[in-house]
Amino acid sequence: GVVIEDLSKNFGDHEVLKHISLRVEPGEIFVLMGPSGSGKSVLLKHIVGLEEATSGRVLVDCRDANNEETREKVRMALVFQAGALFNSMTVYDNLALYPREHRIATEAGIREKVERALQILSLEDTASKFPSELSGGMRKRVAIARALVMEPQLLLYDEPTSELDPVMAASISEIIGTLRDEYHVTSIVVSHDRDLALSIADRVGLLMDGELIALETPTEMRASKDPRVIDFLNPRI
Ligand code: ATP
Ligand code: MG
Repeated sequence: GVVIEDLSKNFGDHEVLKHISLRVEPGEIFVLMGPSGSGKSVLLKHIVGLEEATSGRVLVDCRDANNEETREKVRMALVFQAGALFNSMTVYDNLALYPREHRIATEAGIREKVERALQILSLEDTASKFPSELSGGMRKRVAIARALVMEPQLLLYDEPTSELDPVMAASISEIIGTLRDEYHVTSIVVSHDRDLALSIADRVGLLMDGELIALETPTEMRASKDPRVIDFLNPRI
């Protein structure tokens, strides 16, 4: 699991995260919501060790998230908001990169894992294409497929369903649920999609202006009396 203790982060004199404390239990689906600019992506980056805390700490499976060793010992995969694929490689090679570099399997074993991940995300036809030849939603699915190939214990998603049509979005949330139920994968999901978030989450955290103002189950959140939570869940457009 993940333990965040009194985490604060400043960029210059901008306080982006303010005294965040929370635990994500092993095998849990934790969804982080909040308005644009509230600090969701920055918080994810602390968990994968891409940002260093100004104060407080982040532990992943009892290890400091900012430690080089943690990245090797704990299998973590981050699906970035913008996908972050290698444009000079085919989809197949993007997916095969990690298992090849870590010598996880033979080339035949890697082929099996890659083909399975492509199949789960309905991407069989894209294996020999380059990312630049795909739509935004397809690139997003490739990024998720690449994370699946890593067979992670901890999977972090930044807006996994943005740019996806409702059918594909539903299938992504189904995959997240399957990974929990069948493989005991812990997932931390940042999402703007309130309905999706409340339907897949075991627990939800709501960030506003760097502060964690709610940390509860979807049922508790729907029944919340906190006006900030009510406003967030029922935006007046
Ligand atoms: P969105 O929903 O739009 O993705 P977010 O909640 O993910 O928003 P973050 O990307 O976490 O927002 O950014 C939170 C705040 O931190 C923003 O004001 C942003 O400008 C600032 N910020 C993020 N990264 C940096 C950085 N490397 N240097 C300076 N400021 C940063
Ligand atoms: Mg973000």
